[in-house]
Amino acid sequence: MTVDVNRLLEELGVSSEGMSGVCASGFREASGAELETLNPSTGEVLGRVRTAARADYDAVVDHARERFAAWRMRPAPRRGEVVRRLGELLRQHKEALGALVSLEMGKILSEGLGEVQEMIDICDFAVGLSRQLHGLTMASERPRHRMMEQWHPLGTVGVITAFNFPVAVWAWNVAIAAICGDACVWKPSPVTPLCSVAVQRLVEQAFAEHEADGVLCLAVGGAEAGEWMADDVRLPLVSFTGSIPVGRQVATRIGSRLGRSLLELGGNNAVVVLDDADLELAVRAITFGAVGTAGQRCTSTRRVFAQRGISGQLTERLIAAYETVRIGDPLEEGTLMGPLSTREAVLRYEAALRSAGEEGGEVLWGGKALDRPGFFVEPALVWAPRQHEFSIAWKETFAPILYLFDVGDLDEAIAAQNAVTQGLSSAIFTDSMRAAEQFLSAMGSDCGIANVNIGTSGAEIGGAFGGEKETGGGREAGSDAWKAYMRRQTCTINWGSELPLAQGVRFL
Ligand code: NAD
Repeated sequence: MTVDVNRLLEELGVSSEGMSGVCASGFREASGAELETLNPSTGEVLGRVRTAARADYDAVVDHARERFAAWRMRPAPRRGEVVRRLGELLRQHKEALGALVSLEMGKILSEGLGEVQEMIDICDFAVGLSRQLHGLTMASERPRHRMMEQWHPLGTVGVITAFNFPVAVWAWNVAIAAICGDACVWKPSPVTPLCSVAVQRLVEQAFAEHEADGVLCLAVGGAEAGEWMADDVRLPLVSFTGSIPVGRQVATRIGSRLGRSLLELGGNNAVVVLDDADLELAVRAITFGAVGTAGQRCTSTRRVFAQRGISGQLTERLIAAYETVRIGDPLEEGTLMGPLSTREAVLRYEAALRSAGEEGGEVLWGGKALDRPGFFVEPALVWAPRQHEFSIAWKETFAPILYLFDVGDLDEAIAAQNAVTQGLSSAIFTDSMRAAEQFLSAMGSDCGIANVNIGTSGAEIGGAFGGEKETGGGREAGSDAWKAYMRRQTCTINWGSELPLAQGVRFL
């Protein structure tokens, strides 16, 4: 399907002619190198965006910090009104932005639209939260004293995002950080700069209408700009979403300046299927988890541990489901799997399947790059020997490759699932209440997300999202994840006329 990128950009308020000069932030033209963005479905150039040079980046951060001084003093529910306006604009432009996400990133249209819906949902959540940034009151041990904690805005937050959720991950961070009273500077993935420019235009409109322009800024760039952020003492918090190797470097740099980092890194997510599982549910969930977004979600299903009684049947049904997956133009009705994001991603997919073969894995379905323009591959189902002898399954390959393992029982499945170094998402399919509860218990899954009878992929924004171990420990979106974007202050107030010291200490 031919979708005109210029028409989409115009609908989103971005003039394609000015594109090369506007992308440090609304108030300043960028002067760095030009970045080419490709259409992953054709391999052709989709657009060009000028990146922020070091001087642009510095000016953007200074500008955001200056705006923070006023923004932090605006009452939180009034800040919520600005985020509500952003949510309205996103509703208004959902179709165009969703299509742009599909065009530039390659996910199918319903997922592109779903990503924008997630932005709208988090704006709604943030608006409600803007009246609930509450602290506790504690009992003081001293007479006529009161103790309480309160939460203050943290400052200017750096947000570095990955290509695979080019707009939603920004929104998870920024909608919440904004109602918390922070200013933000966003460095998007260089693979999806058009999406970030389009979002920034909507931000600028919403915030200018409320005399708050410049609170949320953009600095388009690659790895170097990410390093500027990691090292930047003007940013008390850097939220980083991306791969484990890059996250490790970023965390080390931020740690060395004793800054705060919020890390949302790679996953290696598993589904356990027990003999008593509803296979209809399991097959649909695993297929969506492994094939959806062409296996390019941090929560994509990469490993299945199937109990021996049903593993044969499960494999047959998965093969039948894979046969029905239509691969092609992500914007075309009926397509279930679009392309990978880059040519390099195709090479990594091929290399992983070569390693799998060398280690005794057997490809049961798919496994080949498609001979057509763009970066298309077939989803691959791989029967795998024991996990500890199969090193490729210990890594996250960001592609639609699913490894199938047999296990004897639940204990073996949990041990194998938890053996890897990542800890993002996990799921069990069973009709046994005991098995499900064990999976969710302290001796069960060690992941940040543990599901029963739904797959690993497709979290809702109401819960805190994130993972353990090498996934980085960060939590974003719902629940009390907002606390990461604020500073906690403990206050003790003496309303008496004496000065008793804590712990009964006597002095003077
Ligand atoms: P990536 O690590 O290559 O890049 C992520 C971001 O880091 C990009 O903006 C990139 O420009 C920037 N970057 C690169 N080098 C940098 C450096 N040295 N210093 C600072 N920043 C640098 O990841 P990707 O390929 O864009 O995304 C895929 C990865 O992201 C996968 O591993 C996936 O699991 C992970 N991811 C995790 C979550 C989560 O919530 N846990 C969500 C989405 C994606």
